[in-house]
Amino acid sequence: MKKEYIIGIDIGATNIKAGLFNKNGDINEWRTIPSLIEKGRDPFLKRITGLVKKFEKDRLDIFSVVGVVVAGIIDKEREYIIHSPNLWGCDNFYIKKALQERLSRDVIIENDANGAALGELWKGGGKSLKNFMLLTLGTGLGSGLVLNRKLWVGEDGSAAEMGHTKIVPGGLKCGCGAKGCLEMYFSSQAIERLVKKALKKGTNTLLRKYPLSRATSPEIVYKAAKKGDVVAINVYREISRYLGIAIANVINLLGVRSIILSGGISNAYDLFIPFLREEVNKNLFYPFLKDFTILKGILGNKAGATGAAYLALQTQKKTKTH
Ligand SMILES: [Zn+2]
Repeated sequence: MKKEYIIGIDIGATNIKAGLFNKNGDINEWRTIPSLIEKGRDPFLKRITGLVKKFEKDRLDIFSVVGVVVAGIIDKEREYIIHSPNLWGCDNFYIKKALQERLSRDVIIENDANGAALGELWKGGGKSLKNFMLLTLGTGLGSGLVLNRKLWVGEDGSAAEMGHTKIVPGGLKCGCGAKGCLEMYFSSQAIERLVKKALKKGTNTLLRKYPLSRATSPEIVYKAAKKGDVVAINVYREISRYLGIAIANVINLLGVRSIILSGGISNAYDLFIPFLREEVNKNLFYPFLKDFTILKGILGNKAGATGAAYLALQTQKKTKTH
């Protein structure tokens, strides 16, 4: 029987998102379940198996390779999670083997931001681009680099950790243990820090109407900014300065002219893009001036699973020709 469908899975700290895709990358079925990794690896693996079984039902036309992207640092051979700051208890977890045994299928593993970059490359904002950098803007700042329409993972597979490039010498301490990482200056953590600072100062702002946990969320700050709240606007202006410098560095270094923004904070794109563009422009090396685009990804939270399916498709094709 002709294999027509591909399973792509995106394992995040909160949810596991999965899609059954056709070979053109269109979604046939979509499912989301809570990750609940804190309940242990076995129940976690069982939930993923259950998810795949639902896709399988009576179908025989699903690719034997399943693509999986994970929020964590993956080893060079793409077999285990070296470290994940958000997936509890998953450090040194041989997730590929564990899933292969339970699913009786081949599994291909990739980092989630790399997966999102592949998803946008296949079906999203990167469809017609040769080179681009994708940034996932959320609790942290992930990134995936596409060069010549291929994922660039570097010599040891760990490339494109833009969130942990340093932007402030001796700056704020990051979850990775280092100081001054970009992730500390553009992320929901950064927004939270800046809002708290403004509230402490006693500045007049609409954000005071909300309990602190909501007042510091990117969505609420975005809404307040759209209503003209100066504190909220300045929060987005401030974080955009750091990201703008970092993006200009990427463009100056690699000559990549397209940046795709993904992740929750990219929903505030219309608000911060003028600040971001201004800062990138200020920091570009002359010949590249004005010749860059910063787009919003079009797949939203489906980018990772789409990239996972794309990886599975590529892998299946390769095994066929050998
Ligand atoms: Zn860091």
